[in-house]
Amino acid sequence: MTNKTTLAQGREYLAIPGPSVMPDAVLQAMHRPSPNIYDGALIEMMPALTADLRQVARTQCDVAIYIANGHGTWEAALSNVIAPGETVLAPASGRFTHGWAEMAKGIGAEVEILDFGTAYPWDFDRIAEALRADTHRQIKAVLAVHVDTSSSIRNNIPALRALLDDLDHPALLMADCIASLGCERFEMDAWGVDVMVTACQKGLMTPPGVGFVFFNDKAQAKRAAMPRVSQYWDWQPRANPELFYQYFNGTAPTHHLYGLRAALDMIGAEGIENVWSRHEHLAAAVWTACEIWSGEGALQLNVTDREYRSHAVTSLRLTEERGTPLRDFTENQLGLTLGIGLGMADAEGCFRLGHMGHVNGQMIMAMLGGVETAMAALNIPRGSGALDAAAAVLAGQI
Ligand SMILES: *Cc1c(COP(=O)(O)O)cnc(C)c1O
Repeated sequence: MTNKTTLAQGREYLAIPGPSVMPDAVLQAMHRPSPNIYDGALIEMMPALTADLRQVARTQCDVAIYIANGHGTWEAALSNVIAPGETVLAPASGRFTHGWAEMAKGIGAEVEILDFGTAYPWDFDRIAEALRADTHRQIKAVLAVHVDTSSSIRNNIPALRALLDDLDHPALLMADCIASLGCERFEMDAWGVDVMVTACQKGLMTPPGVGFVFFNDKAQAKRAAMPRVSQYWDWQPRANPELFYQYFNGTAPTHHLYGLRAALDMIGAEGIENVWSRHEHLAAAVWTACEIWSGEGALQLNVTDREYRSHAVTSLRLTEERGTPLRDFTENQLGLTLGIGLGMADAEGCFRLGHMGHVNGQMIMAMLGGVETAMAALNIPRGSGALDAAAAVLAGQI
């Protein structure tokens, strides 16, 4: 065998934390002529579409839909409830909280960041301290990223709700569920979340381009008290449209809606609780393999404690900046694309495994097999038996 051979031909596998793998059913649903946007099926499908979105988010709240990626929903949500000069608190466990906080600054908010680094969940003592110090109740919202996709930390949203309630602090609890919705347990109403943003290209398995902002009555009351909200971001007409074009403030994302319809049908057929447990089971196999590999010291899981690890993405680090060479190998030699390190001081050493959305047991074994192969090719020291152990997890034996 020579170095010239490549084993990359065949169906490629994009195992990054978004965009995620697109189901054939979603792609096929999008493969159609342009539909009428004034009358007929597209318009008639909207009530069931929003009802099914609410079910996935476990909420009775209103939902506004935007032709936007996740960044767009960050700005959309903030624009409806935060006026220039108002303060938001941003407890950060990774890059994405900082991104949302920067967006808040961009619309004129005062931002108080509590930075817990890139490998730790929220420290509730420090959040409590910041909320207690806010005697004049200037903090109008807490920006809470459920799963930070850079660090792969999953934070405890119900505990944050409980803290706000205990301190009788009126700030809105705003959750970013872009990486977690449709992957991890999330219950907007039961958890007392006031505003939730998400996008279609991760757990919702649809090509990037549509974002969602869910909001409850408390958030709507704040919206109603705003001095002004830009017409395009205003969630009110989108959530309660009198005419179809008001859903999107212009032309609808026609084909995305058909794709999303197919994705929601898949989630509905599997059952959201089963979707969550599938992700949990697959994540356990990924972690088990990674923990065994890490026994030789070259590979490290970014999040030490399983309790704080996302079920949708796993952030890893290799010594000697071997994250990028490993990704290059899996992509060029195996047809497997892994996620880049994001938001880390040593980004070249880091990489991420996406295991969100349309993924099953054989795909997880393939992804882990790809990592094992790359580590073998690059002579990276690693504990042995990782794939056997991952298989045992999937088989329900450990
Ligand atoms: C992907 C992601 C974003 C950004 O979404 P874009 O669609 O890339 O703008 C924001 N927050 C989280 C938690 C994400 O995973």
